[in-house]
Amino acid sequence: MRLIGLATLFIAVAGCAPTGTRPEAARPQPGEVADVILVNGKVVTVDDRFTVAQALAIKGSRIVAVGSTADIRNHAGGNTRVIDLQGRTVIPGLIDGHSHWVRAAEHDELRFDGVTTRAASLKMLADRVRSARPGEWIAALGGWSEQQFTDEQRGFPLEELDRIAPANPVLLQAVYIHAYLNTAALKAAGIDEKTPNPPNGTIEKDANGKPTGVVRGAGGVAFVASKIPLRDAEAWLANTRKYVTHLNSMGITGWLDAGGRGMTARHYAPYQYLAERGELNARVYWTTIRQPATPAQVDKVLPEIQALKPFQGNDYFDHVGWGETVYAPVTTQLLRKASNLKPDDFAQARRVAQALAERGIYLNAHVEMTDAIDAFLDMYESINKEKPIKGLRWSFSHLDQVTPQQLERMKRLGMNAQIHTRPLIQGVLMHRVHGDKAWTMPPFRMIQDSGILWGLGSDATAVTTSNPFYNLSFAVTGKMVGGHHVNKQTITREEALIAHTRSNAIIVFQESNLGSIQKGRYADLLVLDRDYLMVPEDAIKDLKPVMTMVGGRVVYEAK
Ligand SMILES: [Zn+2]
Repeated sequence: MRLIGLATLFIAVAGCAPTGTRPEAARPQPGEVADVILVNGKVVTVDDRFTVAQALAIKGSRIVAVGSTADIRNHAGGNTRVIDLQGRTVIPGLIDGHSHWVRAAEHDELRFDGVTTRAASLKMLADRVRSARPGEWIAALGGWSEQQFTDEQRGFPLEELDRIAPANPVLLQAVYIHAYLNTAALKAAGIDEKTPNPPNGTIEKDANGKPTGVVRGAGGVAFVASKIPLRDAEAWLANTRKYVTHLNSMGITGWLDAGGRGMTARHYAPYQYLAERGELNARVYWTTIRQPATPAQVDKVLPEIQALKPFQGNDYFDHVGWGETVYAPVTTQLLRKASNLKPDDFAQARRVAQALAERGIYLNAHVEMTDAIDAFLDMYESINKEKPIKGLRWSFSHLDQVTPQQLERMKRLGMNAQIHTRPLIQGVLMHRVHGDKAWTMPPFRMIQDSGILWGLGSDATAVTTSNPFYNLSFAVTGKMVGGHHVNKQTITREEALIAHTRSNAIIVFQESNLGSIQKGRYADLLVLDRDYLMVPEDAIKDLKPVMTMVGGRVVYEAK
């Protein structure tokens, strides 16, 4: 189907529906006249019965009616804008149940999200070099891996990067595993023969001791990323606006933000600024992140927990609690098999979790491996006996190796699950580390069938792509960016869509406002270029909004 520009979808009807021509009974009552109506479409409401309608009406920021085109036309007044969908599909705006987009404001990154060839990545880099100022850093801080390339599954040697970018420092970080730098980046970062390896990282050097441009390990990639200069507050604001627009263009209208390492008030300021002015085009619900790694550091965060006051924001930007690290030494890592189950370390984790329980504050914890999930559940069940946590909607994120028994224990604690699509770029690597077990990591089918409340999300930006249609595609097909089949625990596209909309609305404490196209909910929705319910499974990842609306405002239109 041809992609029709949105301009052609909008048909102004001011004055063309004189009220006298309509039967009295059908005429809308005062107050029901809509500002915008969308008609002649396939409106996938994602309400409790998964109703499919034809049309909807919006007044101000909210949906006032959903139904047939004939019904909804009754809400048109003289000034109502009519959008003729021409058969297109509408779905609720996609809510990511767990991502780290707040940190994306630091840099205007080059993103290889969903780019399936190495050649295309190189072209994007070359284009970026052409528009960059001399000496300006060009960085892709994760969100891609070599295994997503279908032409050549390899990285970017220094000589090649130097040819494309002789005068701009370039840093291309794959997941959190390694980074490729050019000569200008090594120079700007002050990395030479004498530079020692950073903690948990290796600066690769050739036989003569010269850096090759490859830096390995989580500590290594963090070390080089920290060398990129941070710009002023104005640039952060511009980056935020640009990134939110990018997310809108992919179908994101809201998310739960888990922060990240080194988060400061500076990261949240641009969002706060935009939200206060009504200019934030997505809804951001965030958790405080601290990563205490010693008992002394736990001593420091406990008073912070005492002072927390969540839920003082608005429906665009609000603080909802604490996550996703409880105590750094017990945090598991997807590409490392072993968990730390030391009782002394769990005793420290418990001090943090108990303080949150006592204050009645939401907590999300990052847990992946079966034995670690058991240890966390033991801790939470024990806390629950002293200070009940049911009702606080505590959650685990990741849960790649969760078992049915563990999901039952979570349900008894009123917990929910944030499940991610990290295999989209890490699937092949997960198979290398976990063997055949990786086919069920995460076990979407089993989690869905357990009946637990669970939401779908990306965990972007570093460890996977940000594109929500890739999340939906992965849950349905089990295929990576680039096509490798890596997961056999797939679910239906309806189940995936519910998890990316209505269920995540509960996870962000907004179920009365978001997650479905229903009367009374905010008008956060997408008009799609093709039908989500009908395209072949392998085409789900390629779906694109032709229009994205948040709170009744059009925030993105395809050109
Ligand atoms: Zn995360």
